[in-house]
Amino acid sequence: MSGHQVSDQWRARYAGSLMNTFGPPKLVLERGAGARVWDTDGNEYLDLLGGIAVNALGHGHPALVEAVTRQLSTLGHVSNFFTTGPQVELAEKLLALVDPAGRGTPGKVFFTNSGTEANEAGFKLTRRTGRTHVVVAEGGFHGRTMGALALTSKEAYRAPFEPLPGEVTFVPYGDADALAAAVTDRTAAVLLEPVQGEAGVVVPPADYLATARRIATEHGALLWLDEVQTGMGRTGRWFAHHAAPGLAELGGPDLVTVAKGLGGGFPIGALVGLGDAADLLQPGNHGTTFGGNPVACAAALAVVATIESEGLLEHVTVLGRRLRDGLAADPRVSEVRGEGLLVGLDLVADGSAAVAEVAQARGFIVNNPTPRRIRLAPPLVLSAADVEEFLAAWPAILDEAIGSASGASGSVGE
Ligand SMILES: *Cc1c(COP(=O)(O)O)cnc(C)c1O
Repeated sequence: MSGHQVSDQWRARYAGSLMNTFGPPKLVLERGAGARVWDTDGNEYLDLLGGIAVNALGHGHPALVEAVTRQLSTLGHVSNFFTTGPQVELAEKLLALVDPAGRGTPGKVFFTNSGTEANEAGFKLTRRTGRTHVVVAEGGFHGRTMGALALTSKEAYRAPFEPLPGEVTFVPYGDADALAAAVTDRTAAVLLEPVQGEAGVVVPPADYLATARRIATEHGALLWLDEVQTGMGRTGRWFAHHAAPGLAELGGPDLVTVAKGLGGGFPIGALVGLGDAADLLQPGNHGTTFGGNPVACAAALAVVATIESEGLLEHVTVLGRRLRDGLAADPRVSEVRGEGLLVGLDLVADGSAAVAEVAQARGFIVNNPTPRRIRLAPPLVLSAADVEEFLAAWPAILDEAIGSASGASGSVGE
């Protein structure tokens, strides 16, 4: 560790030149390798957030570097008046991964540059059903553009920008009765995250997605799953909804949105339409300049190939279990949730900001999405040794941030 002088200079220039949408940056990062990153003062960190579930292959993975470099030096961009091999290959690959059983009509893909844009495209697609009502879960996060924000419940995000488009009904997440009561024959779509990420990794009852499918089908509405955070192997399956009992038998989702981990850090998102939903967007209905860019598609193909060749789904499952068990062992942790390497935990009292701050000072990057919750979404290439290193440091991080284990049941500092 060698201080923060260089980073502080960048911070001052940041404050003078970037819009203050994110608050002051916690770190000024310079380079990365695997699950490690270094700041501009040479301090090393174990990256347990992975760019918020983005850096699936960690930092600087040779397969990703090679794929992007090769594609950029071959053909870096074309307009969507044209197509490229990587674009078509990635669409086919994504369809096979989202819908491995290949149920019914083949699906189709629309590529974007981000999760928000994938959801924006999905929102527009739902209008092509001829209906305008969408049912969404409270606590869900679907993005920040006006359309995606209309589908996002958090009042602090929405209030400054109202009126937002759309007839949107919010229902408590995981509550099948509330969903059944909200969906009508005027509903275009039900939009849900299989696990709520930004909310702090909230897992619904096991039968929730299958029930949502049944309710949507009953009313002729689309079932749309936002897998922007949970998709691409994050939970130990290609898509989190693959673990939902009974969902596939009922036909699976109509729409799946993907981004974050898809490009392993290269910006790319996708709207996947399955069955009849695949053909709702027609020529002129939507567009993008960068979406489906060959470099982004080559990056995503490399991510998929590497997850396959390095057996990362199994790796993620094993590591996630060890990580959750280890974290839950501390009495100052009241609950640990999640699947694979999407992990959320509740502290027995508020204090997650202090925990994240202390963890960072000790060389671990974690996220505090709510005052009591910590979220981890590390690179899928995290090693077993990395996990043990963090678990060994965890009790002392809590000691410093919120007080000793013996005092935890009573007066943990708020
Ligand atoms: C991050 C996220 C988004 C927004 O994606 P961006 O790439 O930031 O636009 C949408 N939905 C979910 C579930 C997310 O986690």
